[in-house]
Amino acid sequence: MKHKRIELPNLPYAYDALEPVISKKVMELHHTRHHLAYVTGVNAAMDRLEKARAGEGLDIDYKATMRDLSFHMNGHKLHSIFWQNLQKSKKDNAPTGALLAKIEEQFGSFEAFQAEFAGAAKTVEGSGWAALVQEGDDLHVIQIQNQNLMTIVETKPLLLIDVWEHAYYLDYFNDRGKWVDAFWSIINWNDVASRLS
Ligand code: MN
Repeated sequence: MKHKRIELPNLPYAYDALEPVISKKVMELHHTRHHLAYVTGVNAAMDRLEKARAGEGLDIDYKATMRDLSFHMNGHKLHSIFWQNLQKSKKDNAPTGALLAKIEEQFGSFEAFQAEFAGAAKTVEGSGWAALVQEGDDLHVIQIQNQNLMTIVETKPLLLIDVWEHAYYLDYFNDRGKWVDAFWSIINWNDVASRLS
């Protein structure tokens, strides 16, 4: 195997650590079913490509395989960052120091950033994510559809919210807005700040 296969990373906290914002059941399913499926999907795409390179499996569907590689790899990477972005719920949870200064410089105020990030998260068409990303010296809020559409190459995600239904439906039913509003108390701002360069 020339390409390193990927593995499901452990969570940096227990499955019930984010309650009541995210229930233990949702965290368990999200990590052991959904994230694992992306890991398996990446490795399966690598297997198919490896076979084709070796002259076996020449009936490979390149279009589907490339889609799988991109979709599942991004799914794996996004979830790996997302887990690190979260921590136990805190009252008056907000960024400080250099990260807060950067957000204020770029968005005008923390409140204006929150409005933009929440607006992006609540209006993603179908399944996807909202992301605070760094592009050079600038910060942008972007939407990501599914795991891999509407992203911008070479931007670095700092903060992500998963707005696929699997991330919130058992806890918030069809009310994605309620999930987005509850999200602010479980952001690990130290982790977000550590990604800023
Ligand atoms: Mn997810």
